[in-house]
Amino acid sequence: MRGLVWFRRDLRIHDNPALSAACRECREIVPLFVFDEPLLRSHVFGSACVGFMLGCLDDLRHSLAERGVSLLWRMGEPVETVLRTAQDLAVDAVYWNRDYEPAAIDRDRQTQQQLARQGRTVKTFKDHVVFEAEEVRGLTGDPFQRYSAYRDRWWTRWRAAAPPVLVAPIIPSAKNSVDSSMPAWPTADTLGYMPVPMWIEPGEQAARARLQWFLKGPIHRYVSGRNLPAQDGTSKMSPHLRFGTITTRTMVHAALQTLSKGGTVSRADVFTWMDELVWREFFQQVLSAFPHVAEGPFKAKPGLPAPRPAGPERDRLFAAWCQGRTGYPIVDAGMRQLNETGWMHNRVRMVAASFLVKDLRLDWQSGERYFMEQLVDGDLAANNGNWQWCASTGTDAMQGYRIFNPTLQSAKFDPEGGYVRQYVPELSQVPTKWIHEPALMPKEEQVRARCRIGIDYPEPIVDHRQARQEYLDLGKQKVAP
Ligand code: FAD
Repeated sequence: MRGLVWFRRDLRIHDNPALSAACRECREIVPLFVFDEPLLRSHVFGSACVGFMLGCLDDLRHSLAERGVSLLWRMGEPVETVLRTAQDLAVDAVYWNRDYEPAAIDRDRQTQQQLARQGRTVKTFKDHVVFEAEEVRGLTGDPFQRYSAYRDRWWTRWRAAAPPVLVAPIIPSAKNSVDSSMPAWPTADTLGYMPVPMWIEPGEQAARARLQWFLKGPIHRYVSGRNLPAQDGTSKMSPHLRFGTITTRTMVHAALQTLSKGGTVSRADVFTWMDELVWREFFQQVLSAFPHVAEGPFKAKPGLPAPRPAGPERDRLFAAWCQGRTGYPIVDAGMRQLNETGWMHNRVRMVAASFLVKDLRLDWQSGERYFMEQLVDGDLAANNGNWQWCASTGTDAMQGYRIFNPTLQSAKFDPEGGYVRQYVPELSQVPTKWIHEPALMPKEEQVRARCRIGIDYPEPIVDHRQARQEYLDLGKQKVAP
């Protein structure tokens, strides 16, 4: 039997259910990647994300070549392209790992139906999550809306039946006839994107190495370090999870092993980190069970203030936020980190998102789109779920609003201002006393610090206290405790 393995968000060989099944069942396999031309043309994702994906594909291509198989690539509309490729290569079966985004579900349904009409077998597998939405349900059978309840049930399931990690399969040698017909692989440039310097190494080997680095080091102080953007306190594995160079299964098993070996790592550090992986699964299940969140709020909340109307004022505020020129150092550092590197620390993502929605009173979907265009780990479920959490439109049942004070957040989580100084160079010489509120710096200090407020660094574009009060007055709920 000849099988086509369609790689999508699973750019790896180890622990890959679709690849393993195809290798078990077929005498010959053809691995395929389809560049989704309409999606690439839409620029929903930016250069950082596309560059990282190309790096991961390069790594996968080399790993497959070492095993005697060529990764075939095609460009086009995915349904048509997979159908045509399956026909051209006369494969008997097509294998892929499932994706839970509404557009992907629709694409896969159409592909499956049409392949079946051609008389080909289709086999799909759970891979992107440890548990699919239907596997983690409450007593009523309904999907969970509260993270804490979901997390408890998730761990009950894990303890009952933790899915094993699959070893890398022996790939039946295909020496496929496709080699000669394959043009050179696309580059960022030929795809219409900018080449971006990578601060995180792409690919499966790099993902495994990063996990080991994290488990030997930062996990030992995760509880205290994860909120400090100036420190390397988190794993930075989100781009790898985005493109499936490693699985959550592998990561949870490895973290539990680290704990069981004893040593100095604490249960609190390991479980707090693993619970972040469960947050990821939670948002995947929200998107899967309530696909309408991709288009708007989870639930209409009439008490929320309406966003500022379209017009030059809205555009001015949005541009300042995007460029990191709001006059609030922590927000500006975050947005500049995002623009320069395609990544932003989670604590700062929350502060920047809250600032856009609550202080500037702009619609959260503009922020969601902008993050998606910039992030190297841009992922619909995680991005949308977190934006809705920050905008108070999501699944969590909290009454009232969450409004972050950007100055207090900066003082608490970047007390020495190291993070701010790294990404906002015009503040690099500002003394720590003023680093969180440089606009309050006396004139002579501004001269000494070579940072004239309103000239070298902007005045705050809104007054937080006033903006917060306006938001509360316009809304009809009480502020959350
Ligand atoms: P670690 O602290 O090492 O955590 C391990 C893993 O857990 C992460 O790699 C990630 O997969 C998962 N995780 C951690 N926090 C969250 C969370 N709050 N929600 C969901 N999963 C989480 N994450 C994305 O992967 N893609 C996005 O597009 C994205 N957009 C976001 C937008 C906003 C407004 C906010 C507040 C958060 C967003 N996040 C997103 C979640 C989070 O910021 C990143 O997952 C995290 O910063 C990645 O860093 P890390 O890998 O070092 O995390």
